[in-house]
Amino acid sequence: MAAEVLDGKRIAKEIQSEIKQRVARFVEGGQAAPTLAAVLVGEDPASQVYVRNKERACQRAGINSQLHRLPEQSTTKEVLDLVHGLNEDPGVNGILVQLPLPSGVDSQVVLDAVNPLKDVDAFHPQNVGLISQGRPQFLPCTPHGIVQMLKRYQINTRGKHVVIVGRSDIVGKPMALMLANRDIGLGPDMANATVTICHSQTADLAAITRQADILIAAIGQPEFITAAMVKPGAVVVDVGINRTDDGLVGDVHYQDVAAEASYLTPVPGGVGPLTVTMLLENTLAAAEIQQAATT
Ligand code: NDP
Repeated sequence: MAAEVLDGKRIAKEIQSEIKQRVARFVEGGQAAPTLAAVLVGEDPASQVYVRNKERACQRAGINSQLHRLPEQSTTKEVLDLVHGLNEDPGVNGILVQLPLPSGVDSQVVLDAVNPLKDVDAFHPQNVGLISQGRPQFLPCTPHGIVQMLKRYQINTRGKHVVIVGRSDIVGKPMALMLANRDIGLGPDMANATVTICHSQTADLAAITRQADILIAAIGQPEFITAAMVKPGAVVVDVGINRTDDGLVGDVHYQDVAAEASYLTPVPGGVGPLTVTMLLENTLAAAEIQQAATT
């Protein structure tokens, strides 16, 4: 069996065109176009590419973007001063702090300083708490993108065993919280999963991943998931982006697993384009929330 490709690029295009129409209606209603402010500290090459992609995606959707750059040697206080200024600026609806921050900056302190109403990455503890309680204000971009992709391929998660490999605050943990809830606003079919979270200390990982109806790999290890770790017919979502001498590869051994899975995301062209797209969704949502708060 050859897995059907979950075409993240196509789904992202579809959602971006819907967002563009919603942004146009928002502006026709007399509101300023939503504005996203990106904070980029230092010269990390991958971060520069990500920020540029985000700016371009904003432009296509009719969303304004601002780029605020600080030098590599910046202190936590300098980054905080910038974030506080953006929090206070009524012309800024969403704030994105591009990670990773340089080692001299305390990431947690900076992320905690973002106004929760402008927290379009949904990293602030208040937003994480709301997700955990099943009443999210914003959904984190990568997990939200994954659910949107599954939904549009009519792959329900209700009652399924979802195994997530990776427990980061950006992907693994929020993904688990979203899928284990009753309904996080995307309908009961796109929640209500039985979720297992695995990590580097998990014993006999393959025995657990082989139980997955839906396997989500967010590990950061090139081609780590092999066919022997996948149940025949499983849906496999590869979040990993690993730069190797052979170019970009995911956390899943694509060729190997494609013979075993029913659906599989490619890298690139899978989860990545959806992450950027859901940032646009959250920026529009932030503008709508802030507008509602002032009327
Ligand atoms: P982190 O490094 O923060 O987390 C990796 C997780 O994988 C950790 O929980 C770690 O366990 C676990 N892990 C590492 N090695 C093993 C192992 N041998 N067996 C089992 N678990 C293991 O990474 P992120 O979550 O931030 O990112 C994961 C990948 O996804 C990266 O390649 C990243 O580039 C990519 N990514 C892609 C995005 C996209 O849009 N497509 C967005 C965000 C990330 P432990 O906690 O025990 O250390």
